[in-house]
Amino acid sequence: MLDDPKAMTGHPTDVDAARIAKPETKPKELSFGPLETVHVFWLAGMSCDGCTVAVAGATQPPLENLLAGTIPGVPQIILHHPVLSVEAGAEFVASFYKAERGELDVPYVVCFEGSIPDESIAAATGGYWSALGSEHLGGDVHRPIPTTEWLKRLAPGAAAVIAIGTCATWGGIPAAAGNPTNSMSLMDYLGKDYRGTAGLPVINIPGCAPVGDNFTETVAMVLLFLQGIGPLPEFDELGRPSWLFSDTVHTKCVRGGYYEEGSFATKYGQKECLVEIGCWGPVVQCNITSRGAINHMGGCMNAGGVCIGCTMPGFPDKFAPFYEMPPGSNVSSNAVRTYGAVIRRLRRMTMKYQNMEPRWEENNAVPSGWSEFQKPSLVNQAMHYLYQKLQYSGSTRPGDVVSKESLKAKGFHTPEVYKD
Ligand code: SF4
Ligand code: SF4
Repeated sequence: MLDDPKAMTGHPTDVDAARIAKPETKPKELSFGPLETVHVFWLAGMSCDGCTVAVAGATQPPLENLLAGTIPGVPQIILHHPVLSVEAGAEFVASFYKAERGELDVPYVVCFEGSIPDESIAAATGGYWSALGSEHLGGDVHRPIPTTEWLKRLAPGAAAVIAIGTCATWGGIPAAAGNPTNSMSLMDYLGKDYRGTAGLPVINIPGCAPVGDNFTETVAMVLLFLQGIGPLPEFDELGRPSWLFSDTVHTKCVRGGYYEEGSFATKYGQKECLVEIGCWGPVVQCNITSRGAINHMGGCMNAGGVCIGCTMPGFPDKFAPFYEMPPGSNVSSNAVRTYGAVIRRLRRMTMKYQNMEPRWEENNAVPSGWSEFQKPSLVNQAMHYLYQKLQYSGSTRPGDVVSKESLKAKGFHTPEVYKD
């Protein structure tokens, strides 16, 4: 196919346009608005394809439902993806040309994975960094079309442009110190004045790799907006879906309780908070601990890993060296360690009593064959006495008999609980 001079030219006459523009699988009854289909053009720059893998594993909603058009109100997506599409060669590239010429009869969205390299650097030695299709320059000469160029061609006519993954959103690893390809983010490349035809600046779904659900959910909500039956989703000042990225990973971390009690892991594999072995979670906006990596499972701290800040614009350089304690953590973890140790002891004391049936407490014995009952010390008993006084101040301890007069005085009218 690639040896055919027409193969990668993308000439539209090579294409069964009707099959691409009007799939027959659309369940018509699910269309609640004017759009039955929307094209999505997926471009990959300096990328590892990890974003594609993440999106392919999304579950809420799954990519399959977006492609099948089975989500009520959400137009069916016709995905043009260099890895996932079944078309290849000219047939695949033709739709990109049609979009560029404004010949699609429905809106399109551009998704970009990977960062934007400076193709002039590669062109200086006759090469390219990342390309999709080629232009026939005559004879046997073909020019690969950089994906950066496709972005430039398609972004002005796109209803929305979505950057997926930290390379596309903030430059990511290809744009780290040194940056031989002069890579940059979509925002850097398109500029602050860029707007899609729906009036939206670049939408950013960061993460390396991102949570696939963060992407499919945002796409579904943007499509409902384009359909005219949903509000514009709320985005923050950097174009991130604010309902997904406003909290730090620390606020919903499964190890947050250990942090609060000043219990810190000293090496990997331990269950406590990982801040002292390099976790940046307290300052990083990410929802992976609550959402999980795929299908509500996995996610960095859930799986034992520290946060290295992969969703943040400063990643990776500002979070280096990885796996070293962040300098600011010294202050907070030492402060937490001091009061956390006291709080932890007080809680264990209360826990000991809450682990006893009232009968056991009365008998000062636990009939367990598993271990010897350790009687609480006099100090513990005194603390517990005071604790209970506090707990039931203003209310009645279960089992205590209350006089009719005192209940009446409090406004209760339930005679069966009155004492005669
Ligand atoms: S492991 Fe990281 S995110 Fe989790 S509680 Fe500790 S510092 Fe916070
Ligand atoms: S917890 Fe940190 S390292 Fe893990 S995905 Fe979120 S930002 Fe990236």
